[in-house]
Amino acid sequence: MENFIVSARKYRPANFKSVVGQASITTTLKNAIKNNHLAQAYLFCGPRGVGKTTCARIFAKTINCKNLDENVEPCNNCESCESFNQNRSYNIHELDAASNNSVEDIRNLIEQVRIPPQVGKYSIYIIDEVHMLSAQAFNAFLKTLEEPPAHAIFILATTEKHKIIPTILSRCQIFDFNRIKVDDTVDYLEYIAKNENIAYETDALNIIAQKADGAMRDALSIFDQVVSFSGSDITYKNVIENLNVLDYDYYFKLTHAFLSNKISETLIIFNEIIDKGFDAHHFINGLSEHFRNLLVCRDQITIQLLEVGANIRDRYKEQTVSCNEDFLFKALELSNKCDVSYRLSKNKRLHVELTLISLCNITAEKKNSDKPIIKKEHVKSEKKVVEEKISKKVVEHQKPVAKKETPVMVNKPKSFSSFSIKEKLDKNTENKVEEPKVIEKIEAPENIQNKEFTEKELIGKWHLFSDKMGGKPRIFNTLTSKDPKLEENNIVSFVIDNNLQEEKINEIKNELLGFLKTELKNTTIDFKLIISDKEEENNKLYTAEDKYKHMLSKNEKLNNLKQEFNLDLE
Ligand SMILES: [Zn+2]
Repeated sequence: MENFIVSARKYRPANFKSVVGQASITTTLKNAIKNNHLAQAYLFCGPRGVGKTTCARIFAKTINCKNLDENVEPCNNCESCESFNQNRSYNIHELDAASNNSVEDIRNLIEQVRIPPQVGKYSIYIIDEVHMLSAQAFNAFLKTLEEPPAHAIFILATTEKHKIIPTILSRCQIFDFNRIKVDDTVDYLEYIAKNENIAYETDALNIIAQKADGAMRDALSIFDQVVSFSGSDITYKNVIENLNVLDYDYYFKLTHAFLSNKISETLIIFNEIIDKGFDAHHFINGLSEHFRNLLVCRDQITIQLLEVGANIRDRYKEQTVSCNEDFLFKALELSNKCDVSYRLSKNKRLHVELTLISLCNITAEKKNSDKPIIKKEHVKSEKKVVEEKISKKVVEHQKPVAKKETPVMVNKPKSFSSFSIKEKLDKNTENKVEEPKVIEKIEAPENIQNKEFTEKELIGKWHLFSDKMGGKPRIFNTLTSKDPKLEENNIVSFVIDNNLQEEKINEIKNELLGFLKTELKNTTIDFKLIISDKEEENNKLYTAEDKYKHMLSKNEKLNNLKQEFNLDLE
């Protein structure tokens, strides 16, 4: 790999076609050339490294080419094209306003603008980072921009459009360059790798593209860095090592441990990550990203937001099956909280560890709660029954089966590899727990108004309603924080901790009451909120020690662990 030329230079696009990820802009520019509708001033805006200057140069070359092909691309053969390609064209002038931002610099430029080009029709003036010009320089430039000579075309480029004064903006045709999509970057890197006879794993290129964060220039220089490190074989392992990226595998393993309530395993994995020299804050952000990815890949509409390679995408799809949305919302909330308060925490390691323990406890809390659990088998049988249209008897079965004594996890986690396709299909049916509701409506005898109901039934319906509120985490969390009680005269009482919760409940109170009345077939149901001061105090965990005690009450093993690892509180 000795004579591997720096990709950023070698693979700089030479025509519009080879510009990556900015198709709408290059098409518009080509049409302007084709129809001879050239503006005298353009403003190219967008993040760094997305091809603004490259496009400006190609544009300059194309409008001066003497033999444009039918696709309005430069021929790269004529005298003008050759002088462009060899960087010796007199028709292009570039000013970097970041370092030449004085009035003097602009005056020199204006001097040049007056001189018509010797060869070709147009002189192009590219002013990079134009927002850096001083106020006086801007003013000096404005006159020229108002009445430029016919042979002059200005292309102003900036990463900070909001810093450009309106008088300049109104005189330019504005193009907004996009951040280049990960997929587009990967495609281009694949093209280069093939051209250079470099073997690669697509997941590896994907990591490079993600690290470049939408800037092709960065992607190419990272690519070069990786090639010089790992030679002509780019593997996922090499890339994550070289770029100091935490392997996705850790996040998958951790999530698996959270779902199975394996606190010790979680802490051991985290320890391994820290030992490898990764920053804990970075790790927490990565974990949030992981939960977010698990969430977006649940839905066909949002799956496009998943910017990872095909193999990793499959793993996400696989893992999300074993999570439910309830878990993911809570997990996101916890990891995000940890991120926000990270800086303020004194013992950062423990801060993260407490979050990891809470993450393990999400499923444990669920186990302990009275929340009715619908077993897979029941859902299945319901489905069958729907098909067979057997009525009465079914109604009994449909009711969510609460199993307080022997809790059954709906989403009992398994290792990814042990998932069979059939199991996955079965799992998918779990998403349709709402089905019983529909049947019940169909089969409800016309007039059983004001039916008696038990507290257990009430709680079941309450949770059905909570699930409906899954999209509103605040309300959802409040509703699921406790179970409602059934008091005399069908009054449903619900204890809340504070005014904020009261506000949240009142927002949906009518909807909730209507739902309960319909579902429980009783119109006399009323609703009562009780604010508990005592509860409030109990629930507020001010210090790390409080938090620890709270955790301990949920999982006794924690103490052994604390001793074993010699952990200390802040
Ligand atoms: Zn040409």
